[in-house]
Amino acid sequence: MNFEFSAEENLFVDEVKAFIREQAQLPDAADVFAPDRDSDSMLSDTPARRRFNLAMADRGFLGMSWPKKYGGADKDGIYDYLLNEELSRVGAPLIGKGIGIVGKTLITHGSEKLKTEFLPQILRAEIEFALGYSEPSCGSDLAAMKVKAERSGEGWKINGQKMWNTSAHFADWYWLAVRTDSSASKYEGISLFIVPMNHPGITVQAIETLGEHRTNSVFLEDVWVHDEYRVGELNKGWIYICEALDFERFAIYTISPLEVKLERMWAYVRSGKRDGRALIKFPEVRRLLAQFTAQVEMAKMFQRKVISAACQGGVPTVEGAMFKLYMTELSQRMANAMMNILGPQGLLHKSGVDVVSDGSWEWSYRASPLDTIGAGTSEIQRNIIARRGLGLPASLAR
Ligand SMILES: Cc1cc2nc3c(=O)[nH]c(=O)nc-3n(C[C@H](O)[C@H](O)[C@H](O)COP(=O)(O)OP(=O)(O)OC[C@H]3O[C@@H](n4cnc5c(N)ncnc54)[C@H](O)[C@@H]3O)c2cc1C
Repeated sequence: MNFEFSAEENLFVDEVKAFIREQAQLPDAADVFAPDRDSDSMLSDTPARRRFNLAMADRGFLGMSWPKKYGGADKDGIYDYLLNEELSRVGAPLIGKGIGIVGKTLITHGSEKLKTEFLPQILRAEIEFALGYSEPSCGSDLAAMKVKAERSGEGWKINGQKMWNTSAHFADWYWLAVRTDSSASKYEGISLFIVPMNHPGITVQAIETLGEHRTNSVFLEDVWVHDEYRVGELNKGWIYICEALDFERFAIYTISPLEVKLERMWAYVRSGKRDGRALIKFPEVRRLLAQFTAQVEMAKMFQRKVISAACQGGVPTVEGAMFKLYMTELSQRMANAMMNILGPQGLLHKSGVDVVSDGSWEWSYRASPLDTIGAGTSEIQRNIIARRGLGLPASLAR
């Protein structure tokens, strides 16, 4: 049994670190990196971040795990993961939806037309995607989606409302799941389309979250899309969404933000004082730090299990659910604990006088619950573990 990465993988990590150091010297670095805003990586867009993505493309960091035939490097998925780990450590934009969800689904299920049109643009970091899955009345029970596409000439006319669509206000393209057959079972009547975000029938409305990130409500009114922009087989969208969600669980939830959070915690209690006495001397503070140190290590082990299963070609649904549940709730517990340690001063916003740690704990306290909701809530992760992992019945009620 070996929990460590190989020499070649560690060399790659060194290469990424060197790239990040170079980028950190550039004049726009402050707009690229947000090291104390652990979940910022996916959610904002600035010219500096787009430039950074182009630099990653030039370095060959995008699409490393894609087949050579499509411009990739045929590398193991672990390289994408290692890259994301280093990027999230410094709060830089992660390689996300385009390379992962969209690119990998197109490579496996897309038509030649869609592959030719989109894969090169994704590899060159020229386009951004928003994911249109959730709706006002369905998120956890995603297969109950109602946004409807009806046949119209050589294409489809789409009407309805999507909800919580992150990046929709700056994305170029919409990866959109809709109901194409209302008479089929809820899992069998869904199809995926790629739609330009600047379509005149699309209206994007901002929703501000507790974590200061913007997400969006998206309204679709007679949005016509040619059938050529349907991804894969008609009514097979649910299968593609599930495959891609499993990938998302593996790639998005990196461990380094937790390590950074723990380091920040240590740094504060080493130098901080309460009633003139060093914080590090309080038994409850020492106990908390010891607990969190062990728990971050446990989260890392959960994650290694996911990576190991994924690298051997498995679909680590249950392991991914355990990791997502454990690490997102741990992140929230750490933020809550720091609010207790800091006392009233912890409530100060980053713009406040006498603010501690640049307000990062106050922000973390507000923002960390979001990760327990996005990409499947904690309750849904527990359901996956209970049903698929433990073989328990769907519900004990009744
Ligand atoms: C920051 C953020 C970004 C997001 N980005 C996107 C995006 O880009 N695209 C997109 O399509 N969606 C996105 N989402 C939506 C996200 O996937 C949904 O919010 C999530 O799946 C929960 O769905 P819901 O909000 O409809 O809540 P509901 O499904 O209505 O759940 C409400 C509550 O009931 C609980 N619950 C529901 N069903 C069960 C059950 N069977 N058993 C036990 N408890 C249950 C839930 O856990 C939750 O506590 C994002 C969400 C967040 C927070």
